[in-house]
Formats: sequence, structure tokens, C-alpha cells
Amino acid sequence: MDKPKKEPVTLNQSPDSKLCLNCGFPNRNTDTQCMYCRTSMIEDSGLFNWFRQTYYILRWRWQLKQKRNSLDSQESKPPFYRSIGFFILGVVLSAVGIFVFTSAISQNSFSSGLIALLLVGYGIVTLKTLFSNK
Ligand SMILES: [Zn+2]
Repeated sequence: MDKPKKEPVTLNQSPDSKLCLNCGFPNRNTDTQCMYCRTSMIEDSGLFNWFRQTYYILRWRWQLKQKRNSLDSQESKPPFYRSIGFFILGVVLSAVGIFVFTSAISQNSFSSGLIALLLVGYGIVTLKTLFSNK
């Protein structure tokens, strides 16, 4: 691990800079439009705007963090939506496997039981892979 790089301007939120609510680009307070995407920077200070601003700050930081992570280690983490997808897949596979297994027991069917075990096994492996990546 090398020393942390110099923090980008956005992370040290100075009072004389504000983030563009459209693209997250840090602009000077005196700017009337974003230097990056030309969106108007004039806004009223409502609760909704506060939420929007907070959201963009968090998103901006998250993107910077992702960038730094991918620079730090060559192994890139799977994106969030992929993790969710794998999680659902694992749960569904396990659930279907257990369901098939119970019906296989009631029908006394060996091949169905085998398929069920395979499904459960695959579901567990999917979940295990997902959590070991963390
Ligand atoms: Zn912008």
C-alpha cells in the first residue's frame, strides 16, 4: 500500500465551493453556471435541494473511492448491481433446490433429489463466492 494520494478538491468541502447538482463538478460559489455541464447553479435552499446536494456529494465521493480502489488493487470488485444479482440468484437457486428436494422426498424420486442437491450446492457456491469477494 502506498501513501494516500492528495485528496481531490471535492473531499475538502471549502465554503467557497459548491457542487454542480447535475454532474457533481465542484464550482466556485460565485459561478452562476457549472463550468463542466453549463447547468445553472442558481438554486433556492430547500430541503429537496439539500437532499439532492447530499446525494451528489455522496455519489461523487463514491466514484472517487471506486477509482482509487481500482488503482490500488488490480482485482476489481464486481459492481453493486451485480452483487445483488448474484445474491438473488444464490437465494433463488437454494430456495428452488430445497423446494425440489422436499417434493423429491415426498415422491421418493432419486433423480429429482440429485437435481435438488445440485441446485442447492450451486446456490451456496454462488453466495459463498459473493461474500468471499468482500
Ligand atoms: Zn455540472
